[in-house]
Amino acid sequence: MSLFDKYAPLQARVDMMMKIGKDALGVQFDDIIDATRGRIGNREILLAGTNNYLGLTFDQDCMSSAKKAIDNHGTGTTGSRVANGSYSEHVDLEKALAEHLGMPSCVVFTTGYQTNLAAISGLAGDKDVIFMDADAHACIIDGTRLTGASTIRFRHNNPEDLDKRLKRQGEIEGGNALVVIEGMYSMFGDIAPIDEFLDVTHRHGGYLYIDEAHSYGVFGPTGCGIAEEQGVLDKVDFISGTFSKSLASVGGFCASRHPEFEILRKVMRPYMFTASATPSNICAALAAVEKVKQGNHLRENLKARAEQLHKGLSEMQYDLCAEASPVIAVRRPNEAVAAMEWNWLIENGVYVNLAVPPGTPQSSSLLRISLSAAHTEEDINTILKAFNDLKDKQGELMAGMASKLQAAE
Ligand code: PMP
Repeated sequence: MSLFDKYAPLQARVDMMMKIGKDALGVQFDDIIDATRGRIGNREILLAGTNNYLGLTFDQDCMSSAKKAIDNHGTGTTGSRVANGSYSEHVDLEKALAEHLGMPSCVVFTTGYQTNLAAISGLAGDKDVIFMDADAHACIIDGTRLTGASTIRFRHNNPEDLDKRLKRQGEIEGGNALVVIEGMYSMFGDIAPIDEFLDVTHRHGGYLYIDEAHSYGVFGPTGCGIAEEQGVLDKVDFISGTFSKSLASVGGFCASRHPEFEILRKVMRPYMFTASATPSNICAALAAVEKVKQGNHLRENLKARAEQLHKGLSEMQYDLCAEASPVIAVRRPNEAVAAMEWNWLIENGVYVNLAVPPGTPQSSSLLRISLSAAHTEEDINTILKAFNDLKDKQGELMAGMASKLQAAE
């Protein structure tokens, strides 16, 4: 028995994918041309799976802010903020985000993943109870694993079910309830009824933590996210987010209406024991926050493109997982079909994400599309045409897949 034997079932899935085509979890681009275009070999690819919601990765101000940061303060911080100290960039970005969200405290982290690990494990102690949405992202789940708190999952996007479980829990002796949800969910693109979750959570004396990784920049009159869109931002206890989507960089943040959140800088292990974000990452995000605040035209374009794509795919009778949003997930019958179609799309110049269990809700196999404000109406027509052709060629492709799988046996 070797250390790797436990991965035999996973290896079998990977082998099946490789018989069908490329390794969807290891795509390599030979060039990234701009926010919506890349190149693999000689083929230009329309990028429709990047989470680059506002298309700011090639924004001139974001790029020059990052370049200036390297000139001013170098390429890396070579240590954590606790050990090596903060750079002015870290502090400026925390102030900008706190001001934008209207909250007294904001801490930035090296990645979005570490943000949830740090904040959730810092907030919840042994006597607290975490109530977490059934479709929570991996880094929320991992954050709960770093705590001694017990964890209870409630039905996805279901405030009544949360209410029932909070009632059943009753008084938490010596502790508190921390409820963790997301604004827009990354796989299906569905949206949480934050106002209802707030009502239930606060009625039971708990705290509400919202990961707005996919919604900061995208929703709300000034781009603060779904809580702002639903008019309840000032009541939310904690908002976390990432720099790797709308903010076109790498890093993350957690902001709070409770000034006492600051003390967590002295306890959050994924904040204290890892190197801080580089000056260029932070300055790209800092420039992007300004773009978010002024970004109504970007949000409008993104919304129009999402509606255009959703309508077109619905008319073709594709099974879509939610209403129109910048994430549009097309449900496929199984992993093999999804992989075969994903390969066909990339060979025909369109990159989407192949999303399969256990990373998806309801064990679904998805062709997940994420849109960008940089997509044009024509780009969406290109995606629609590809999905239409895919439907027309279904019989031929299924036969091709069956013979590939048989030949390899
Ligand atoms: N939260 C959610 C909901 C996410 O989908 C992700 C990553 N896609 C993260 C947090 C982690 O963000 P990052 O990739 O910036 O570490």
